[in-house]
Amino acid sequence: MRIVCPSCEATYDVPDATLGSAARQVRCVRCSTVWQVDPTLEPEDPIEVHPDADLPPPIAIPREVSELAPPFQPMSATHRLPRTLKPSGGMTTVVIAWLLSFAILGAAGWAAVIWRAAIMHAWEPSKRLYQWLGLG
Ligand SMILES: [Zn+2]
Repeated sequence: MRIVCPSCEATYDVPDATLGSAARQVRCVRCSTVWQVDPTLEPEDPIEVHPDADLPPPIAIPREVSELAPPFQPMSATHRLPRTLKPSGGMTTVVIAWLLSFAILGAAGWAAVIWRAAIMHAWEPSKRLYQWLGLG
């Protein structure tokens, strides 16, 4: 198959066995241009032959190594997370929430001490806990 470099128009006569049956990339040894060659697509017009017989055939590069592919840019997925995960009110809201939690727990403990007689009367097993705490 005859292929022509799209950049410097160097002409190569490559055996069909070298190219294979599927499209692949080749590199011009004269100007290092890499381009795609599809053996299944034969040119409609005959290519004019240039006397470039002294040039070696182009180097076939592996399909996986594509110098023309754009560089891979790693990207974090954190931008997809909803912004509501962050505390919107800052440290003040967090401190208020903690103080409110302690106040609720303290009020519950204080009520358990104040109304311990009623609690022990309603729930017999709680007597052991109050006795263990020295409040029974
Ligand atoms: Zn070239």
